[in-house]
Amino acid sequence: MSDLTMQHLTTEELELWAQGLLGAARTMHLTECTLCFAEAQQERRLHLTLSQLPLFAPRAGFADRVMAQVKVPKTSGEFRA
Ligand SMILES: [Zn+2]
Repeated sequence: MSDLTMQHLTTEELELWAQGLLGAARTMHLTECTLCFAEAQQERRLHLTLSQLPLFAPRAGFADRVMAQVKVPKTSGEFRA
């Protein structure tokens, strides 16, 4: 077993793993360490939960209603010194 598979995963590595981006050598650690495996599962669950949150979008016509309230100053004509 190499040092790479012995060390506990960092928070960044756990996040990478949850995204499926962690290298094989580090992923191996999860098969041997219940501590990191438990944390990794939690991280993956968090990612899943976040990905299932509904996306909030403004109702139709939102931009029009906002723009109706926007007062565009009238141009003051030509500048005279
Ligand atoms: Zn570990």
